[in-house]
Amino acid sequence: MPVDIPYRRDIVFDYGRLEPIAPGLRRIVARNPGPFTYKGTGTYVVGEGEVAVIDPGPDLPEHVDALLTSLAGETVTHILVTHTHRDHSPAAAAVKAATGAPTFGFGPHAGGRRGEAGVEEGGDWDFAPDVMVHDGDSISGGKWRFEAVHTPGHTSNHLCFALPDAGILFSGDHVMGWSTSVIAPPDGNMADYMASLDKLLSRSDTVYWPTHGPAIEEPKRHVRAFIAHRREREAGIIECLKTGAERIDAMVARLYVGLDPSLHRAAGRSVLAHLIDLIERGIVASDVAPTLDAHYRIRRLGPPA
Ligand SMILES: [Zn+2]
Repeated sequence: MPVDIPYRRDIVFDYGRLEPIAPGLRRIVARNPGPFTYKGTGTYVVGEGEVAVIDPGPDLPEHVDALLTSLAGETVTHILVTHTHRDHSPAAAAVKAATGAPTFGFGPHAGGRRGEAGVEEGGDWDFAPDVMVHDGDSISGGKWRFEAVHTPGHTSNHLCFALPDAGILFSGDHVMGWSTSVIAPPDGNMADYMASLDKLLSRSDTVYWPTHGPAIEEPKRHVRAFIAHRREREAGIIECLKTGAERIDAMVARLYVGLDPSLHRAAGRSVLAHLIDLIERGIVASDVAPTLDAHYRIRRLGPPA
């Protein structure tokens, strides 16, 4: 029976308005809706008076203007970036220029190593954080203190930011309520993603605020469902290989019945991420280096006898 993911898609907001959503927490949603962004990028403002901005968003002047106008009379002291996709980090430059606040992030996109052309167009190659943040680092200001949680998988530089005193985790694109996350090689990595889901299960955060969509109020239930979903997908890929589907196109056609055609490419990259993981675990082999066009076969099932 397919894994039942408890999706959360009810979100009430007005574009262009910085709105209170919890004590000491406000959000403004950018008008960049789409198949990967849901209603748009949710930029969070933490604190009052002296505030931190999380994920300033895409390069969309009306979004930056609305954010800065709403914060007139307050001081932005920190700009936190969960990761360097173009719907998250590009507006950091304009917010920094207007406020002088430093930017905080794990590092440049893909560690600064550009992937093959056409694959990494979603990466913001211009962003380099003023302050490099490591797993477990504390970041404090105003009346708040964040703890950084490195959660590679969606990207290698993905961070979640926890507010331990409030039980909140800003989960970026690592765990979202409206959708599964895109894990697209080469920077996306399935083994890392699964480890980063396990990492959240060992924590005691009580609510997640992802960058897209509404809050997740039962976060562990959600994380467990995503782990089960990926295991189910992996089992489906192995079944495809056992029954003659040896190319990613054929696997996507079998595994993603009814998927919006505009998402087929992303689905293919997700299958590729699983296949790379299976190859690294010695379960699958490919005829050439693993790409969307390679042929794949089972090497062995389970541990060697
Ligand atoms: Zn992303």
